[in-house]
Amino acid sequence: MHKVDFLLINPWIYDFSAHDFWLKPYGLLKLAGLLRKEGYKIYFLDLLDPFHPELPKTPKRKAYGTGHFYKEVSLKPYFFLDVPRRYFRYGLPFELFLKEISNLKFKAVMLSTTMTYWYPGLFVLIDFFAKNYPDIPIFVGGIYAKLCRAHLENFLSLYPDSRIEIASYPIENFIERLKKEFPLTGETHPHDYPSFDLYKKIPYVVLLTSLGCPFNCPYCASKKIFSKFIQRDPHLVVEEILYWNKNFNIIDFAFYDDALLVNFEKHLGVILEELLKRNIKVRFHTPNALHARFITKEAAKLLKEGGFVTIRLGLERIENRIDEKVTLEEFEEAVRNLKEAGFTAKELGAYLLYGLPEEDFKAVERALKHLEKLQVSPYLSEFSPIPGTSLFEEAKKTSRYPLSEDPLFTNKSVFPALKNPDWEEIHRIKNLARTIRKALISS
Ligand code: SF4
Repeated sequence: MHKVDFLLINPWIYDFSAHDFWLKPYGLLKLAGLLRKEGYKIYFLDLLDPFHPELPKTPKRKAYGTGHFYKEVSLKPYFFLDVPRRYFRYGLPFELFLKEISNLKFKAVMLSTTMTYWYPGLFVLIDFFAKNYPDIPIFVGGIYAKLCRAHLENFLSLYPDSRIEIASYPIENFIERLKKEFPLTGETHPHDYPSFDLYKKIPYVVLLTSLGCPFNCPYCASKKIFSKFIQRDPHLVVEEILYWNKNFNIIDFAFYDDALLVNFEKHLGVILEELLKRNIKVRFHTPNALHARFITKEAAKLLKEGGFVTIRLGLERIENRIDEKVTLEEFEEAVRNLKEAGFTAKELGAYLLYGLPEEDFKAVERALKHLEKLQVSPYLSEFSPIPGTSLFEEAKKTSRYPLSEDPLFTNKSVFPALKNPDWEEIHRIKNLARTIRKALISS
């Protein structure tokens, strides 16, 4: 029997689609890192791990550490029967999960989930541990727990005899509270970096150099999750990158920052200059959109020299803009600066948000064509209304679902803000984006 203090689990995803585009449970990994540094023994189980050696089929891997997850077809919720797509459970088969934990003895379980509408994977685990390990406390945290607390509490009320707690924040206070109840049994660890080394294989490492965002877009949860914008000491970020590069030979790093380029000269600029001085060859990716308005000629040059190979800019809309994070003129200037610095259409993409209440698909098409003209690869992101944001209230008026009742209704793939989604039109727009992207990348 392998004895640990805490078992930390990243749940399965139940959804129409899920891809490993640098998708890792950062918060849970960070918690593992902090607990380990204190001297707790941890077992970290990511049920999405695409490298688990006993998966019935190895998921395909793609460039820069990205790829697919293992998946099995799952029953589609009845209210999504009009959505012409299959529904899956992504992650390890249940038997493999049982095998993973069968040899473990632990004092508490810690569960987390990110997207609010991914809570079913979390609920399956809560139910499993509450019924099979009734004496073991369960702690639940993550974005869903933060944004949909009432929904979670409602579910937890089904288990009156179990000890299930919602983790408190900041995370440091939560750890202090744990220390009062659970004695330390291990050795203290030299650092508190997110515990990527607990994976069987590390194709990339995720970095978070800041919390929050100084902007407040009407569709975004950033302010709800972190009310203040705080940047880490850039020199400490450099140390973290060097640690993974030197000790684990990590080349690919993905930034999870919401506002990576803010204060460029004193923050990311310093990180890149320091790495260049040390002649460290790494590749950087920005799955979260960058703010185009901060991409000056100098910044673009440094991004190129510093190893950025995946740049995603947040444009969202061209006509009827609904945020103030960038103007079309600023976006186009950023594109000119990036191209001048040597970025190609393969490296340079922009997100377009669509599926908003009363969506005008012709305007989305015009936006795609505009990006094609600018030679920037378009990436469509479907609108998911987030509770607590002003656009959520708008979406409630136009949605065919009672959005406030269940976070599942906010799944981006069902176009929750549309009353009668025209699936053929949606399909046409998606194909158009794909065709433009392919043509730009191969040109
Ligand atoms: S700029 Fe980006 S991260 Fe910041 S509030 Fe807007 S969408 Fe959210």
